[in-house]
Amino acid sequence: MRHSIAVTAYHPDKTVCPPDHTYTTGNRPLTAGCTGRSQFVASCDCAWTGTPSATKGYAAEMGRRHRTAAR
Ligand SMILES: [Zn+2]
Ligand SMILES: [Zn+2]
Repeated sequence: MRHSIAVTAYHPDKTVCPPDHTYTTGNRPLTAGCTGRSQFVASCDCAWTGTPSATKGYAAEMGRRHRTAAR
């Protein structure tokens, strides 16, 4: 089983914020209808899902830890 981590961003209303929603460097949404990213969740090809976190960096870190632990 390969462990491939992906981090998904969510809007405050819990809908997915897709990668094509672009942001300024100051983290302001540039896409019409995009309400911003309030949560990031890491998930793995093996069906593992991390707990939601406020930053993308932390979600990615949980994913790395999962991959290390699963090996
Ligand atoms: Zn995994
Ligand atoms: Zn969005």
